[in-house]
Amino acid sequence: MLIFHPHNEFDDLKNCYWLVGGTHLGSGLPNFYESGQIVLKFIRYKYKVMTSLDKLSKMFKLEYNLNIKRDTMREINTSVITDTVAKLCINANIYLNDDIKEALIKGIGNETALLPKNILNILVENASVAHDTKSPICQDTGMAMVYLDIGQDVHIVGGNITDAINAGVALGYEKGYLRKSVVGNPLTRINTKDNTPAIIHYNIVEGSNIDITVSPKGFGSENMSRLKMLMPSAGLQGIKDFAVETVKLAGSNACPPIIVGIGIGGTMEKCATLAKKALLRDVGTDNPDKTLHDIEQDLLEEINKLNIGPAGFGGKTTALAVHIEVFATHIAGLPVCVNTGCHVTRHASERI
Ligand code: SF4
Repeated sequence: MLIFHPHNEFDDLKNCYWLVGGTHLGSGLPNFYESGQIVLKFIRYKYKVMTSLDKLSKMFKLEYNLNIKRDTMREINTSVITDTVAKLCINANIYLNDDIKEALIKGIGNETALLPKNILNILVENASVAHDTKSPICQDTGMAMVYLDIGQDVHIVGGNITDAINAGVALGYEKGYLRKSVVGNPLTRINTKDNTPAIIHYNIVEGSNIDITVSPKGFGSENMSRLKMLMPSAGLQGIKDFAVETVKLAGSNACPPIIVGIGIGGTMEKCATLAKKALLRDVGTDNPDKTLHDIEQDLLEEINKLNIGPAGFGGKTTALAVHIEVFATHIAGLPVCVNTGCHVTRHASERI
């Protein structure tokens, strides 16, 4: 039970401080303090005069509950976020992910002609050299995309989270000797010289952790992405045709072998976000949705018949994978976005 001090003199509630505390009504403010009870909160009611003890206790209970909740929240300082983002920018740019490396090696086995085999071998060797010399896997170190799944029981302290993320990107690109590729304004095109600002996606989830993923996106592949607001009557075939056409138009410009991220549904911007998110799934992992899994496999087969091949020199390995994400949409629409990820499709993650 919550008890307040001093006595129930409601006329005096206006403009006075109230002490909300533990288990009994103290005889006076100093005594209340000295009694060693837990003092939860001082509340100043400037504008409101309470008319009943019931209302007052309800309000205090609310405050009490909020206080208890706050006590269970985990504090994370923005400096940790900055350091983590910096580290992930460097790691993503230097170390080719194992799933992609394995898919490239598998591609070598699948190719029958010498040229695509050689190119895939060079890509694998390039990844090893980058790893051993701690150099970027590609000269285009990308625009930093940062995804955060923030637990709702996290309290971020020490400053603004967006500033902290951008500070991390600037630090990582400087420390890692990574090329700064961002211009501050698409029309005046002056380099910001620290690769900021990042493209940041915040997502609130359960729990008390923050999961951070940094995905530096090269623009060879980014430029080849397309979005179309299809009519529902276009159906699955319309989606497939659009995806295959996008890869065909991209040709060698998307730096194949590519990963094809497809977003279906939502609104215009939502399906673009879905296509991006699809690229974060590990190559070789199955889509948990059986229908989507089958569509992915069909599309992969069709795309690999295009004979674009590694680096566009022909061959069976135009794409390493097709990944699809879907979301609810309007009865009158069928948005679809294809975001192509190049043969380095970088992403590094960490939980804090
Ligand atoms: S699209 Fe990818 S592989 Fe091609 S230049 Fe850019 S980062 Fe490098």
